Amino acid sequence: MENMSRELRKNILKSAKRVVIKVGSGVISDHESGKPPLERGLSLKRIRSYAKRIKAIVDAGYEVILVSSGAIMAGRERLNLQRPNLAIPEKQACAAIGQSSLIRSYERSFEKQGLKVAQILLGHDDLENRKRYLNVRHTLEALLEYGVIPIVNENDSVTVDEIKIGDNDTLSANVACMAEAHLLILLSDVDGLYTSDPSQTNHKSGQTPELISHVGRITSKIEQLAGKSKNPLAVGGMSTKVMAAKKTMSFGIPTIIINGLKGDNLKKVFAGSQVGTLFWSGEAKIRDRKHWIAHTLKPAGSITIDAGAGKALVERGKSLLAAGVVKVDGKFEFGSAVRLLNEKGREIARGLVNYNSRDLDQIKGLKTAAVRSLVGANFYDEVIHRDDLVLT
Ligand code: GLU
Repeated sequence: MENMSRELRKNILKSAKRVVIKVGSGVISDHESGKPPLERGLSLKRIRSYAKRIKAIVDAGYEVILVSSGAIMAGRERLNLQRPNLAIPEKQACAAIGQSSLIRSYERSFEKQGLKVAQILLGHDDLENRKRYLNVRHTLEALLEYGVIPIVNENDSVTVDEIKIGDNDTLSANVACMAEAHLLILLSDVDGLYTSDPSQTNHKSGQTPELISHVGRITSKIEQLAGKSKNPLAVGGMSTKVMAAKKTMSFGIPTIIINGLKGDNLKKVFAGSQVGTLFWSGEAKIRDRKHWIAHTLKPAGSITIDAGAGKALVERGKSLLAAGVVKVDGKFEFGSAVRLLNEKGREIARGLVNYNSRDLDQIKGLKTAAVRSLVGANFYDEVIHRDDLVLT
């Protein structure tokens, strides 16, 4: 399990280019001040250090979209409003005041790193309406093209609770899907998802809470594990994070939850370390996935298949099995896009492959049982699953 998760993370990083990073209010609050959560404000020190870390990610070749909370927190601080349960107009006023401080802090901090930022405020309407959705998407694309870091938040001052997205976990999942990102990272004030509530010391069961490093599928048990956050600055808590991961997973986007209060965690994610909780099935469908496989991904190699396999693919809508593979060309990894050729060398399909080229070369032509005994833990039934395959 541990090895599989490590392998998955390596593959995610290798094929990722566009990353959405969500920063929660707690993560950029002046945590160290020792003040009670509702009296905390923005920590310029933390924002600066995130700007530095994100610069390193950009320098490593990734495109970064930031989704940041903190407007209401910053506004509260400015207005000296420390009581809980603010009325909606009060929260909206806080958001309107705080958003400008928030973006100014980011702008100054990123400027020091030689990076420009842009502010994008979104509401439900912008995501539901296809035209607006596409407009936002185009804006994001253009900003990324210019090497600018888009900083997204909900447009809190113009929407009331009933029509609000409400929490930035959900917003960041929507942004990741809209931008067709390859990875979503949620920075929270906990280490990830635990087998039981880590803040509870006296467990009836006597079990110590353990961090789950990989969730392949969101079951009702996983949903139950995601309790509510105890931090009053945090809007969503773990349950909205798990829901966000569920959404991105169904679009084929992996999500990692890490503790953003631990400075090095973001760096560790990009070093492929087993930090936080990774949510990814490795095989989820996405809406525009077929298009993406067929047109966006650059094939890393090709697989020649025999006539029987070709027929099964084209006429019967089957997946590709090792038995039908005749020849492997090029060097590719698990998850790479490849071209499928018939024995005359004509391309008939493209897909995402479950074996790297070395392993596939070893198992080509073999029956499933033989493949299983040869590759052991890394076994997959299909070389390319039907859902990851497009006839061309
Ligand atoms: N949009 C809110 C803010 O900027 C935060 C929502 C959230 O933290 O999830 O304060």
